[in-house]
Amino acid sequence: MGANSKIEWTHHTFNPWWGCVRISPACKHCYAETWAKRVGMNDLWGKEAPRRFFTDAHWREPLKWNREAALVGERRRVFCASMADVFEDRADLNDARDRLWALIEATPNLDWLLLTKRIRHVRKLAPWSGKWPRNIWLGTSTENQLWLDKRIDHLLEHDVMVRFISAEPLLGHMNLQPYLQTPGSSVAGINWVIAGGESGPDSRSMNPAWPESLRDQCSEANVPFHFKQWGHWAPEELIAEGISARAQRIAVVGRDGEIINLVKVGKTKSGRELGGMTWDQVPELAI
Ligand code: SF4
Repeated sequence: MGANSKIEWTHHTFNPWWGCVRISPACKHCYAETWAKRVGMNDLWGKEAPRRFFTDAHWREPLKWNREAALVGERRRVFCASMADVFEDRADLNDARDRLWALIEATPNLDWLLLTKRIRHVRKLAPWSGKWPRNIWLGTSTENQLWLDKRIDHLLEHDVMVRFISAEPLLGHMNLQPYLQTPGSSVAGINWVIAGGESGPDSRSMNPAWPESLRDQCSEANVPFHFKQWGHWAPEELIAEGISARAQRIAVVGRDGEIINLVKVGKTKSGRELGGMTWDQVPELAI
């Protein structure tokens, strides 16, 4: 995967390799594995499975994006990696990982979004223990409070330009308040929150109360919030038309005790409005 990304919160996507192994409940319906299989790469997931590596032409792409960004005088974000976990600790990944670190340093006009579920490995596997390049945004995925509690300290220990949380698929309520970076505070905190529901036919539903709460926590702390999508399930009241009477429905209890009907419509129909608007906030940096 490369080229121009359709993901709203990033301009490009770059993968140093393809393949991974499941590590927490968020991985249950791993989109990356489904995608890999769709394009005929059937054996890239699992502890013993090989990974897929790429040619020099693939590695040259970010250099081109970097030149383009410089030409127009704008910073561009690169999501790394959508088809792997950069901090999977396997010896056969070390060469590609070293090449990635060098590439990041060679592309100062790009902001690299390193998102990992293996945030505890960053200290060991990243080469910049104290002094991180200014073009790295480091994030960890947290699907519920349990996994937030397990991962957050490992994120906050790193002195990077942006620390972010990706709560997707969001599988439960999360209290981020103790960790959000409040204006003027010198204590390390979260600078950006991305949330979204799960997509794909077997998706788990997301109670609207969960992203609403994250949005409100972020608004209160003045931390940018990005709502990516409802996913496969959405509140029935948001879907204008065309819902089959046979579509699967479930009822959940909202924040104020109200009953909300969720309907399984697929991510194209479910959209990405939360509380009557889209949330596309991204940190603004003075680099
Ligand atoms: S960490 Fe990401 S790529 Fe790896 S199995 Fe989990 S969801 Fe898939």
